[in-house]
This record gives sequence, C-alpha cells and structure tokens, in this order.
Amino acid sequence: MAMAIYFRGMDDDETTFLARAMVDSGNRIDLSDLPGIKVDKHSTGGVGDTTTLVLAPLVAAAGVPVAKLSGHGLGHTGGTLDKLRAITCFRTELAVPEIKAAVKKIGVAIAAQTPDLVPADKKLYALRDVTATVDSMPLIAASIMSKKMAAGANALVLDVKVGDGAFVKEKERAFELARMMKSIGEKSNLRTAAVITSMDQPLGRAVGNSLEVEEAVMALRGEGPPDLEKLCLHLGGWMLYLAGKAGAPGEGEILLKKLLANGEALNKFKELLVNQSGDPKIIDDLSLLPQAEEKIQVTAAEEGYVGRIKAELVGRAAMNLGAGRQRKDSIINPAVGITLEKKIGDRVKKGDILALLYTVGSREKEPVASATAMIDEAYEISKEPNEKIPLILGCVE
Ligand code: URA
Ligand code: CA
Repeated sequence: MAMAIYFRGMDDDETTFLARAMVDSGNRIDLSDLPGIKVDKHSTGGVGDTTTLVLAPLVAAAGVPVAKLSGHGLGHTGGTLDKLRAITCFRTELAVPEIKAAVKKIGVAIAAQTPDLVPADKKLYALRDVTATVDSMPLIAASIMSKKMAAGANALVLDVKVGDGAFVKEKERAFELARMMKSIGEKSNLRTAAVITSMDQPLGRAVGNSLEVEEAVMALRGEGPPDLEKLCLHLGGWMLYLAGKAGAPGEGEILLKKLLANGEALNKFKELLVNQSGDPKIIDDLSLLPQAEEKIQVTAAEEGYVGRIKAELVGRAAMNLGAGRQRKDSIINPAVGITLEKKIGDRVKKGDILALLYTVGSREKEPVASATAMIDEAYEISKEPNEKIPLILGCVE
C-alpha cells in the first residue's frame, strides 16, 4: 500500500480518510472540558528550531491554552523534549490527566506524546522506512495530521520548513504539503493555517539542547536572535488569531510583543518549569544549565560575506558532538552543541570566528575534528553579499 501511494499519490479525500483511520488506531485526547479554543503548533522539523520553548509560554501568557505534545529528535533535527530535558528534573512524561490539570492551572503544558496515540503511525513509518517510501507527500501529510488530530486541539498552526535543513527542499513542494495538511484539517474539524519558512540557515544562533534553552530564555526576555523572535511572533500571531484572541495575525503579534517586553511571557515559562518540576533558578542564572567543558573556534579561511549556512551540515555536526541521536538509542549530552557567531549577510574577515563548538573536551578528538570540517563546509562565503532570503515565504490559510 505504501508503495502504491508513493507512486500514484492520493487525492485530498483519500489522504484525509487515511489520516482519520490512523487516528482511530489509538486513543484521542479529549480537551473539550477545558475552556477556550485550544491551539496547537507543529514544525516539520528544522535545525536549531527553538520556537516551541518560546511560543508555548508566550501564547499561554496571552490567555490561549496550550497543550503541546512533542517528540524526540532523530538525525540532524533536534526535538523539543531533548531540549527540555537539559533542565534539571523537568518532567516530560505526563499522563493525560496531568496534562489537562496543568493546562487548567497555568494554561500550558509541554509533554511527550503518549504511546497510545496513533500507534498505526509508528508501524506505517517503520514500513515506509524499509520500503523507501518515507518521502511521499500524502503519507507525510497523513502522518503529521493524524498525530495533531489525536492530540485534541481545536486549531493548529503549521510551520512548514523548506530548504537544505528541512526534509522538503523545494518551495513548491512545501506549499503543496501545507495545502494537503490544511485540507485534512479542514475536512476533520481542525482549523488549520500553515506558514512556510526558510531553513537556508539554522534558526537563531544556538544548536544543541542546553544552548537552545538558554536561547529560548533570552528570547523570552526580549533579547533573543532577531530571526527566532520574528518567527515566534509570526506563528504566535496566527495562533492568537485562530484562537479568536486577535482580529488578525498582525494584531496578535502586537499583543505578543508586549508580553515579551513586560516579562509576562518569561514569567509563564517560570510557571511551566515549576509546574513540571524543572529548576526555575535557571531563568535568572543560565550557568546552572549543563555546561560544556571546552569551546572550540571555527574561523573563516577567507574574507567576504556569509552567503548561506547549510543547515543540515550544522545539524549533523551538532549530532556528531553528541547533541542529537544518530540512532534511536543514542545517548544525548545536553551540554554540547554549536553557536553560530555569523549568519547570512554578515561580513567576515579572514580569521574571524564563524562558529563555536561546545564539546566535552579533548577526550573526544575525532568528533570535534569532523564537526569542525562540517561547519567549515556549511559556511558559504561569497565575495559580494547575496540577496537576502526571506525567513517567511508565505502562508496557506
Ligand atoms: N514527520 C512525521 O511526523 N511524519 C512523517 O512522515 C514525516 C515527518
Ligand atoms: Ca536556535
């Protein structure tokens, strides 16, 4: 069946029926007794994508309830759960009643997807993996949407990544995937909007678990990298609009900007940490997060302008240092990762620091050498500045 779908495709009704059948293979979370329009958010996976850590408390601070189920990272993309586990004692394994109690009490929970949701997705994905049919748009759309439908929200904002670090490399295919997922949502009582965004460089500066928690806290203080802040406000604006808290996504953005400036978003993050047993002291003292033993510089071999930063290579380099999983059972080191000290458009002189590798020190010579080579290759330096690639490429609503 997977191969038939891969070769012949499916129309919107067929894709929707598959997604619904997948939902019916397991349990569905019922959030209907919680007040308000519950809005979920999903990213198709990027490198250094820290948005959930910022968005969940930010949107909750605006009075929109957020019950977010997240996954682990695999390969070159990181997972929100792994990032949260960099915070001492933070609990991600919550039972459904605990998730609901948290949303009732403080308006937000971020938890691991429970194994009884969409068991058919795991089986089908394993089959796709061994039949080389993972890369099929209707199968991807049904896989993602079945999990979102089972999670119980009323509305959904999708961040469809396109570019080198994403699994959709062409803009047209990203728009088509967005359209397909929206169609499944609309046919199934889940109001859906999709934003298509660029992964032609990692998002923000940090790639790695502890480093991305730090970056999220900075963003919640209103001091984050501009691209991360921009994307969070944009996606959050859509979430507020779908929840009926703003008349238009742009209005929602203005409200969210205020919550970053007045500290309420950061405060909500603190409540989230306390409520899920994480150490809230990290907010005022980021050095309490797991720290790497050594920082290694990667420097520019020539002068010019950063034209592109191949996100997949950066993700793979971080994975090699221990920030991500090569295999399902790989063990993650929360302290290691990479910070990008230069981003697209920045001017560099020979010898300038392009990136810093956060490592466990000289014990691990080989991974550091290969990560250094990969970062070196990831940075494209051109003589003239390239035309700026927009971060937000469009939306399907
Ligand atoms: N993410 C999913 O959840 N499923 C896919 O099939 C691809 C990406
Ligand atoms: Ca980042």
